[in-house]
Amino acid sequence: MKEAVETDTGGAALAWGLLALAAGGAAAVVLGWAEAGRAPDRPQVIAGLAALAAAALAAWDAVRRVRGRRLPGRAGEVAGPLAWTTAAWILWRLLAPLSPHAFLVPAGLAAWLAVTAPPAVLGCVAAEVLLLEGGLAWHGLLTPAGAAADLAALVAAALALRLFVRGEAFRRRLRARLRSARARRDALAHARELGLVEDAVAGIGELPPLDALDGAGPVSLPAVHVVGESFRLQLDLVHRALSLTTAAILWLDPDKETTRLRGLASSRSDILPGPYPLGAGITGLFLKGRQEVALAPLRGDFSGLPYYRNRGGVGAAFAVRIPDEAGRAAFGILCVDRAAEHAWTETETGVLRLAARKLAVEIRLARMLQRMDRERGITERLCAGLRELNGALGAEAVLDAALKSAKVLVQADFAAVCLVEPDGGYRVARAVGPGAEGIEGRAFAAREGLVGQALRINRSLPVGGVRRGRAPVFGDRHGLPGYPSLRVIPLRHDDDAPVGALAVAARRPGAFHRVRREILELIAAQMAVKIDQARAHEEIRRMATSDGLTGLANHRTFQHAFDMMLARAGRRGGKMALILCDIDHFKRVNDTYGHPFGDRVLREVAGVLRGAVRKVDLAARYGGEEFAVLLEDADLGGARRLAERIRTGVARLRFPLEGREVRVSISLGIAVFPEDGHDKGVLVERADQALYQAKAGGRNRAVAWDDLRIPNPGAAPG
Ligand code: GH3
Ligand code: MG
Ligand code: MG
Repeated sequence: MKEAVETDTGGAALAWGLLALAAGGAAAVVLGWAEAGRAPDRPQVIAGLAALAAAALAAWDAVRRVRGRRLPGRAGEVAGPLAWTTAAWILWRLLAPLSPHAFLVPAGLAAWLAVTAPPAVLGCVAAEVLLLEGGLAWHGLLTPAGAAADLAALVAAALALRLFVRGEAFRRRLRARLRSARARRDALAHARELGLVEDAVAGIGELPPLDALDGAGPVSLPAVHVVGESFRLQLDLVHRALSLTTAAILWLDPDKETTRLRGLASSRSDILPGPYPLGAGITGLFLKGRQEVALAPLRGDFSGLPYYRNRGGVGAAFAVRIPDEAGRAAFGILCVDRAAEHAWTETETGVLRLAARKLAVEIRLARMLQRMDRERGITERLCAGLRELNGALGAEAVLDAALKSAKVLVQADFAAVCLVEPDGGYRVARAVGPGAEGIEGRAFAAREGLVGQALRINRSLPVGGVRRGRAPVFGDRHGLPGYPSLRVIPLRHDDDAPVGALAVAARRPGAFHRVRREILELIAAQMAVKIDQARAHEEIRRMATSDGLTGLANHRTFQHAFDMMLARAGRRGGKMALILCDIDHFKRVNDTYGHPFGDRVLREVAGVLRGAVRKVDLAARYGGEEFAVLLEDADLGGARRLAERIRTGVARLRFPLEGREVRVSISLGIAVFPEDGHDKGVLVERADQALYQAKAGGRNRAVAWDDLRIPNPGAAPG
């Protein structure tokens, strides 16, 4: 049983079994098998046993749930509760005549499920209860009024307990959520007022966070908190030091028509929350360009302070503007008052002026903090993008990672990588986004399109990433319409000639501002290095696997490919063939025309082989002037045809030399798997024997090992 529930299928089977048991038990209840008052008969015993089994299984399921392990799937979710319900009803029907309180069994269960079960499960249980009660009433085992009363009692019990248990917790959660939402909203509003939201600078801060990063948003909450804390400290300080009634910071709204209370330290309770119209009372003087206002003594009914609800109680008031960064305009006003009527001393006004300046500095600091926060966000994203690019192995992976980085980091809608071709033109190696269709894989001549120009002058185009006119981007026709933002960045390191270009485009005008252009340059530089690296690795791999003179696979690669192909054919019950080729009288060619000429012959013969084989085959230089061809999935007929093609191809070669034409020929030996042998050594040996026969038979011909067999049907291959 334990084994069974460990595996998913076992668990699912158990869940369905439990459900079947619950359904069967429920049917027994409805049919009256669990009805007491009848002489205990077989059905009743069965019903009792079913109740016990369902209860035991359901209890076991409950224990597993408590331990955090559930039966899998939807069925597993409801099986336990439904079995419990059936068991409770059987028990209730059995106990009903013995005790009038037997209904407590289902009522208790209903209350328990109401508290613990998720709504979907509760719904299933409610449906079962309805069916049970309905069935009992239908069969006359319960009066309809009785069933209705049962249901009402159950619903009441469940609802009461659910409300009781969930209510308080729910209210607490809701309150906490509202509080935090309000705090965030306030912080945001505060940040806006303080100029800590850089809406205007479309920086990288607006980007969705890269997976690995917990991105810093456009608002720096630490900056907001620093400012808030510092405001409170400043106000407390002057409030206490100068024995003020109230010290308030009145912030200028962007519309410059109202002010808002942004900080307060006060001994009075009749503070109006604001906003206050600018120009009311003491603030009116600032409209006339005043730097500060000192009023003392004031009459008892002075009402020039916008933040008091009631008149009077003010003996002296002072207000000074909080200068902005340039010192010309104002962020807001520091406004204080006290009950004492004597005039403000020079020291007092000096302290207040200093406090105002301190507040201004604080805001500047916070703005700097915000910028740093934002820049940290940029750097982190950039690092993550570059890390991914750095980790990419192989040319293909580099291109994919680069396009992804480009799209995410600068929010491009279209991105493409072009690579410079040996002929000086370029090919679009990869393109993603709308407009990429039909471009990928296409080759264009040098200087064609914006990409060609950027490659030629080795500079990023167009200036500022802003597209002017409808000049084609790729080739002379691919205009890439609908992208007002465009940037083509050559892939180069230092002043080397570019290896290609990265082209990005966005539907949003002005998408590639300075920061993003710099990011693109970084990505492009990284790509150039990675592409060079990937090519170097590719070259190293090629050198290790191919023959330097002919470019065909070398002997080692041939051996490896032979093993693989044989294994594949053996596995699939397929066929394969081996052709060994040897140039005829090659020693004479060398001796007569010289070794370099011999090399030339070798290269051209290799070209014939390369052109003759299919993609799945392998042509290799076996050694010296011998070649080998492995034919995937080919029988003797196919091998003969290919051998013939090679033979005629070589025979047709002409090597002009000092007014003459030198010709060569080639002999070939064929062995096929599985007819001629199952083993690599045997196949090579038999192909070699066939080749020997081709030489002996006059050269310039192909012979299969099959041709050498004595025409005796009983002869078996080795
Ligand atoms: P046969 O028709 O019987 O094959 O005659 P053959 O002259 O081709 O016979 P053999 O195998 O003795 O000659 C092989 C010659 O191939 C000997 C060697 O000088 C020449 N050879 C081997 N490798 C190279 C190479 O890389 N370049 C050149 N030019 N010649 C090579
Ligand atoms: Mg030879
Ligand atoms: Mg030879």
